[in-house]
Amino acid sequence: MKQSQYFLKTSKSAPKDDVSVNARLLEQGGFVQKVMAGVYSYLPLGLRVLQKVENIVREEMNAIGASEVLMPALQPKENWEATGRWNELDVLFKVESQHGYQAALGPTHEEIVTPMAQSIVSSYRDMPKAVFQIQTKFRDEARAKSGLMRGREFRMKDLYSFHTSEEDLINYYKIVAGAYKKIFERLGIPALYVEASGGSFSKYSHEFQVETPNGEDVLFVCQKCNLAVNKEIYTADKKCTDCGAQDYRETKGSEVGNIFELKTKYSDAFNLKFTDEDGTQKPVLMGCYGIGPSRCMGVIVEEHNDDHGILWPESVAPFKVHLISLTGKDSNEVKNAADTLYEEMQSKGIEVLYDDREGVSAGEKFADSDLIGIPNRVVVSTKTLAEQSVELKKRAESDSKLVPLSEVKTNLYSK
Ligand code: ATP
Ligand code: MG
Repeated sequence: MKQSQYFLKTSKSAPKDDVSVNARLLEQGGFVQKVMAGVYSYLPLGLRVLQKVENIVREEMNAIGASEVLMPALQPKENWEATGRWNELDVLFKVESQHGYQAALGPTHEEIVTPMAQSIVSSYRDMPKAVFQIQTKFRDEARAKSGLMRGREFRMKDLYSFHTSEEDLINYYKIVAGAYKKIFERLGIPALYVEASGGSFSKYSHEFQVETPNGEDVLFVCQKCNLAVNKEIYTADKKCTDCGAQDYRETKGSEVGNIFELKTKYSDAFNLKFTDEDGTQKPVLMGCYGIGPSRCMGVIVEEHNDDHGILWPESVAPFKVHLISLTGKDSNEVKNAADTLYEEMQSKGIEVLYDDREGVSAGEKFADSDLIGIPNRVVVSTKTLAEQSVELKKRAESDSKLVPLSEVKTNLYSK
């Protein structure tokens, strides 16, 4: 992608109404634009990151045998009345139609997925089954702050599983927990496994929390085995569920994922039953499992930045290479060499953003590059060409090195 043609402008001024690091760097870097409190547009650069995050989540969901679906954001009021959540859920957005009906904007999808499963899981032979979607959710959060970390419109991956027995449900629950661990590692934000207050219906409820100074949750982490507890259920005399120790450190976290054993809460509300081996009708057991890709994107920025901007982990970086041409007096020579490199990278399938802008100073190009945070920077200038070379610098390192033009390939493309 040529930067001169890209829908991108960085900004020198920080947003006035949000002090969080991710809001500042993502807005200044031209990744997102705030439309109203808790609602953002993803610009091309930001959409690339979001899609990478979501694809990592998708790959790991496919790997545990879940099938992808897409459910509606606009949902009938009746479904929400069936579970009592039309009145109970304080963050529910309610829509009044001019045609005389009311609907909800989906904050989560138990009210849709449970009746949806009715025709699919009617016999014990049909289970276990699991479906997931990656979709936009709506919640009328009291305080939409902290950039992408708490939106009123945000992205969620939600997975739902259906089982004939609690044993089978717990078995799958553990498989999902393993997949989640992998996901957060791949995203560059390894998460703590946290015991959560799941409410009265659930024995099994865990959160995945990334330790970060701007996190909203207070956690107590076992010094011996690292299992953490959310403050909401923590008591001073609590012994670690896993190892029995009673030695905690207090920290702050941001919840990037959540897994729940729903048991029969929603199958009871929608009469979701199956015929068991012995011919009797029984309620289906369910689990639900969420991850917030947009919140993850915010947390990644909170965790990977320095004074100059973002340092994207390779796995979610918008581009692999930021190619920068510094066209001075001998602009043609530099331009030709940079164009050639750009085309070569394109043909090799290397994701490259090419700063080919004319009339922009070296200082400005470097500042933009640091702010945007692409992991590898390649500079072509009169100086480097005098040595038949380019300058290669990793965003995470302070030193650069000269690499002969003929060796750019081995330095960047070969894994
Ligand atoms: P929180 O306690 O932070 O409000 P939650 O318990 O309401 O989270 P879930 O309903 O379990 O969250 O949603 C699943 C995932 O969706 C969360 O783990 C989080 O990553 C993400 N998420 C929830 N609310 C928001 C939000 N307002 N903005 C961005 N992401 C969110
Ligand atoms: Mg919430």
